[in-house]
Amino acid sequence: MSAQTLEVHGKKISLPTGLFIGGEFKKAREGRTFPIENPATGKEIIQVQEGQAEDVDDAVAAARKTFKSKEYEEFGAVNRAKCMIKLADLMEEHFEELVTLEMVDTGKTRHQASNLDVPASIGTLRYYAGWADKILGQSNSDIPKVFGYTRREPVGVCGQIIPWNFPLLMFTWKIAPAFATGNTVVIKSAETTPLNALKMCELIQKAGFPAGSVNLVSGYGKTVGAAIAQHMDVDKVAFTGSTATGRNILRAAANSNLKKVTLELGGKSPNIVFPDADLEKAVDWSVWGIHMNFGQTCHAGTRIYVHEDIYDKFLEAYTTKMKAIQVGDNFGEGVSQGPQQSKMQYEKIQSYLKAGKDEGATVHLGGKAKDLGNEGYYIEPTIFTDVTPNMKIVKEEIFGPVVVVAKFKSEEEVIELANDTTYGLAAGIHTKDYERAVRVTSALKAGTTWVNMFNFVHWSMPFGGYKESGIGRECGDAALENYTETKTVYWNMGMPPPTDGSK
Ligand code: ADP
Repeated sequence: MSAQTLEVHGKKISLPTGLFIGGEFKKAREGRTFPIENPATGKEIIQVQEGQAEDVDDAVAAARKTFKSKEYEEFGAVNRAKCMIKLADLMEEHFEELVTLEMVDTGKTRHQASNLDVPASIGTLRYYAGWADKILGQSNSDIPKVFGYTRREPVGVCGQIIPWNFPLLMFTWKIAPAFATGNTVVIKSAETTPLNALKMCELIQKAGFPAGSVNLVSGYGKTVGAAIAQHMDVDKVAFTGSTATGRNILRAAANSNLKKVTLELGGKSPNIVFPDADLEKAVDWSVWGIHMNFGQTCHAGTRIYVHEDIYDKFLEAYTTKMKAIQVGDNFGEGVSQGPQQSKMQYEKIQSYLKAGKDEGATVHLGGKAKDLGNEGYYIEPTIFTDVTPNMKIVKEEIFGPVVVVAKFKSEEEVIELANDTTYGLAAGIHTKDYERAVRVTSALKAGTTWVNMFNFVHWSMPFGGYKESGIGRECGDAALENYTETKTVYWNMGMPPPTDGSK
């Protein structure tokens, strides 16, 4: 299938739109397509091939064939690393196209896409390329008359299901550790943001990845996603998305072949400002805590707890900064907050704004959609105050530019408040007291904790959640565990066969 040309603000970008199976772009078996829209205008920009369960079967068969082949085994770790480095180089060559595709697909600003999404994706590939030939086992020569050693073997065919908030970054977070460790992959992009996954498959082809090592099936969750999760020939599934869907995936794995599952799910991260914090910096990091990706981040700092002594000062400075955020078409000059990614999310956020008002919270700033006279999905940066712990806006993930700000009196009280959630993805504190920093970060039940910063994540460090925020860790060497099986080998060095004890 040949590529289409997508025109975005006068720039022409060649984009394949087929399923990528066995190293080739193909039409879906049923030949159906689905529309992709620009969230800044609500207008359709392109149609993409829509996979179904039978296409997942084809992709899994291609991935299995490659995984089992002698050629893939002999291709080896060094060549896999070379492919990944080549892919990273190609991404640098195609940097502008990747930025533009991410912007038109998700509503991100150029600033974010070009400083965060694309460079972090390139960094992730280079990091895991470095790991490819360093996946070593251990040996044990201290067992009497037996030599023991372990091998780290690839798991096999890995199903990977990614969300719409960081389409390119999640694509690389998933494929990089899987491919580095010698697995093959069937990946599904989110139905509203499939464009950069398609572009990446074009670059994967150019980078010389063996055919069938990475396969992509675009389509919907209930069809393609579910088919991957329940497939009898998928050995592992890695998922990033909502907690509700994570439960479905775990169930599907349990009901099929007990494939291994890693889940990176939702969050409702607390952000605590102690009275000794550098106030100006705490304000800026707290703005970033919700402003990054316009709140569409699983680790967003949505619950801000401020000590009562500095509450008024903090709130005033924080409100001034939040007010200054320019909401508009993400391709426009000076815009720092684009549209929310989809109509569904836009409506969901508005239902939370209503719930906050209905439950008696005070709208301190924003609190409504922003009408720009087009069909785009804009929400005003919103601050709720006068909240109580049981309000929906305090308990549930909103995934929009909406925070609650509450007061606290003591360290013990704020630790209780911060941990009073079913989630446990991330948490941040602001303080100059080092002992307090160690004490409080230790007490917070979250997979990532920040001191005097927020929303910083690096590919070299583990990322994942406590409690209902997930199972397992991505990034860093921790992710390599997900993609390898450890095999133990015992080798007899002179141990006689056991007798039955009668002689
Ligand atoms: P959100 O609610 O933030 O859109 P989802 O968890 O629904 O997040 O979506 C994340 C990814 O999971 C998407 O690629 C979506 O298509 C996929 N997905 C949705 N439902 C299912 C399902 N039942 N089984 C497998 N994947 C699914």
